[in-house]
Amino acid sequence: MRVLIIGAGMLGASTAYHLAQLGAEVEIVDEEHQGKATLAGAGIVCPWATKADEPQWYDMYAAGARYYETLIEGLKDRGETNMGYGKVGALVVAEEEAEFIAAEERVLRRTKDVPEAGIISKLTPKEARKLFPPLREDMPAIHISGAARVDARLLAAAMLRAAVSMGASYRRDNVTLAVRGDKPVCIGSSGETIEADEIIVTAGAWASRILQPLGLHHPVQPQKGQIVHLSLPGVATAKWPVVLPMGSHYMLSFDDSRVVIGATREDNSGFDYRVTAAGEHEVLSAGLKIAPGLATATHIETRIGFRPAAPTMRPILGRVPGIQGLTIGNGLGASGLTVGPFAGKCLADLVAGKNVSASLVAYAPQGRA
Ligand code: FAD
Repeated sequence: MRVLIIGAGMLGASTAYHLAQLGAEVEIVDEEHQGKATLAGAGIVCPWATKADEPQWYDMYAAGARYYETLIEGLKDRGETNMGYGKVGALVVAEEEAEFIAAEERVLRRTKDVPEAGIISKLTPKEARKLFPPLREDMPAIHISGAARVDARLLAAAMLRAAVSMGASYRRDNVTLAVRGDKPVCIGSSGETIEADEIIVTAGAWASRILQPLGLHHPVQPQKGQIVHLSLPGVATAKWPVVLPMGSHYMLSFDDSRVVIGATREDNSGFDYRVTAAGEHEVLSAGLKIAPGLATATHIETRIGFRPAAPTMRPILGRVPGIQGLTIGNGLGASGLTVGPFAGKCLADLVAGKNVSASLVAYAPQGRA
């Protein structure tokens, strides 16, 4: 079976990796648009503290986190060791006591009988600052030892490399789709038809554009995120935990003395690939309020990514009714680095006709009107 995957972000790369493992003949095309979400994403893998309460979305989010260990071990067995992955833990913090109490209740409820979440404990402000020194002096924290962070650029590249090592082919191109009868046809930028038995569209925030000529009204829009990267020269940040305050901003650290503060969530942004004064201000203000110790850090860069945002929080995963051999994986929004690897495995199993480990009924794409 020949499968064409359009888009190699976290979701397409995972789909390719898992399909190659199942023995499919896989071709991946990716345009690497400016603002590819996987290149900008923070990399937090910690579903258990979220305030959002959409049960079917949360099921996928939690399943994504559960699958990470298996994924990382599988890639390591193939010689992929550099993915920026670490179970560094998370500190959940709140400015209001009532919010802190509610957060503790939520985390305890969500992590009951969830071994991958690790140990949950309450830390004094002093204990919390020992783990994340730039933190404000008056903030107690809920510590989730099983939380992780990953460098999404490295992980997606590792999955692609692994797929290619198993026979998949990868190339850069901006392709389009047409429909002949009830079958989709993919056309390369030079006008050539790319033959495939199955086409999987994992085109992120650009998916609606490529699906529109098929008569599909695909409801995913770009949501812009600006995310700030700082450096603390000479400081060993590799083991610092993720910091999760109550709003949508957060902090995480990587091995190279890098601390990341994220991120704006700009709806109706279109594909406006610019760092704005307001975006930078919003993110830095939110970060420094919680971690004033970052005030003297060096600003390295601000990345921009377009999250593929669906109208509900639920991702869109499955076969398109009425069009033979067309599958969509999309709409992962703000949680795609957590959900993407598992969702890619589900899509691979679906297309290969294997048992899918999660029911995808709630995530089914719509057909033509
Ligand atoms: P993308 O990574 O955008 O990839 C889509 C690819 O499809 C692109 O390379 C594009 O060029 C290609 N493509 C599109 N159209 C075509 C075409 N016609 N032909 C060929 N190729 C095409 N999630 C978490 O779980 N944890 C986090 O901490 C986190 N932080 C984030 C922070 C920011 C600032 C942002 C922006 C996102 C964050 N996310 C996070 C969300 C996550 O990054 C996204 O949900 C995820 O990366 C989406 O992956 P994707 O593969 O669907 O899309």
